[in-house]
Amino acid sequence: MTAGIFSRTLTDGAARLAAEDPTLHGLLEREQLRQHETLAMVAAASTADPSVLVCEASSAGNVTTEGYPGARYHAGCEVVDEVERLAVERAKEAFGARYANVQPHSGSTANQVVLCSLLSPGDVVLGMDLKAGGHLTHGAPASMSGRFFTAVAYGLGEDGLIDYDAVAALARRHRPRLIFCGASAYPRTVDFRRFRAVADEVGAYLVADISHIAGLVAAGLHPSPVDVAHVTTTSTYKQLYGPRGGLILLGRDADLRTASGKTLAATLQDAVFPYLQGTPRLNTVAAKARALAQVATPEFRRLARRVVDASAALAKELDSRGHHVLTGGTDTHMVLLDVGRRGLTGRIAERALESCGIVVNKNSIPGDPHGPRVTSGVRLGTNVLALRGMGPAEMAECAELLDTVLAAVVPAGDRDYVLDEAVRTEVATRAAALCRRFPLPDHPLPARALPGPTAAAA
Ligand SMILES: *Cc1c(COP(=O)(O)O)cnc(C)c1O
Repeated sequence: MTAGIFSRTLTDGAARLAAEDPTLHGLLEREQLRQHETLAMVAAASTADPSVLVCEASSAGNVTTEGYPGARYHAGCEVVDEVERLAVERAKEAFGARYANVQPHSGSTANQVVLCSLLSPGDVVLGMDLKAGGHLTHGAPASMSGRFFTAVAYGLGEDGLIDYDAVAALARRHRPRLIFCGASAYPRTVDFRRFRAVADEVGAYLVADISHIAGLVAAGLHPSPVDVAHVTTTSTYKQLYGPRGGLILLGRDADLRTASGKTLAATLQDAVFPYLQGTPRLNTVAAKARALAQVATPEFRRLARRVVDASAALAKELDSRGHHVLTGGTDTHMVLLDVGRRGLTGRIAERALESCGIVVNKNSIPGDPHGPRVTSGVRLGTNVLALRGMGPAEMAECAELLDTVLAAVVPAGDRDYVLDEAVRTEVATRAAALCRRFPLPDHPLPARALPGPTAAAA
């Protein structure tokens, strides 16, 4: 198909931005370069395909309306109705779901929608402790989920794994109305069936939040909760390589009656709008439709396989270099390291690695003596590395780079550190070379000399 008005608008818009607003254009240019030239190992991140990015930039975002396809509160929705129907169909297809809502602005909003529509204020919610790897929206005191509801938290066993008997005991004692499973920092398979048995025993709703592992679930590399939990939620920008946003999915229980007398599907449909949100971002809905189409391809299943294979290799390599890998390994894209045992904080590790072009994030670990801004852990993920085409073979080099920095960094308090300049230069050069050898697909690296490490970041 030839470039139509949509494509021309994007090209012309980019040209006008460069000409009329070089400051902002320059910043966006620099950010894209940064993504090319750094080894991104943030487990909660991915890189959206250019075809997803252009949907986000499309004029579908100009359409103001409320409601759903065929039942909008404004005229002019004939085309965007088709876009949203397409996104819903693709979401159902990708996850084998019976109902999908593609409007949540984020994964957090999706969880708030579920909480506020199925519970009354003060009801008991059981979720994983934030420090054990749970998410803020699962009942943390800092979030509305912990302020408007009575939150009870489960932790992990000594081995770093979910202790399902302990979860069941807490459920019997506190009688939650809703149980969250799925986490932000848990590298192992979640047994959704065990959770559902606990929920059924105490009459609670089970909500599976698969924000981190949605790609593995769609690819069949992690068991799916869609027909096991009452409700499944996810963000779309992590392992779905999509735009920033959320999804709500229902399977087998879509027609279950809630306290309102409506079905679960109708209850959630009426909760995203008008209960929690106003206008949908239809440009983002288009981007979700595009990402979900990619998720359904054999290429995506191969990518997901590379994600887990790389992650397993990374865990093994780091372990063999004497690093403490939580739970001893991984089943997912995620590897958690305890750097406190090496006398480091997560914050120092994060900053030292960033100064060498390796982007990770500090993360609390079970029993962490430090708060969330310092922490004793580092969370790594392979979503972006695998997208670049790296697999187990390249993880030996990534582990070596990580190890070189973590072994050389000398802490000075909880926040400051000293890193030998020669080490920094060597690692930064090798990390940049790795990025050049494995460019982001469809984003060829510019043919210019890569800048050296950003000394300012130290
Ligand atoms: C990232 C995450 C979310 C929140 O997603 P946002 O789209 O950033 O709001 C929710 N739950 C879990 C488990 C997450 O990891």
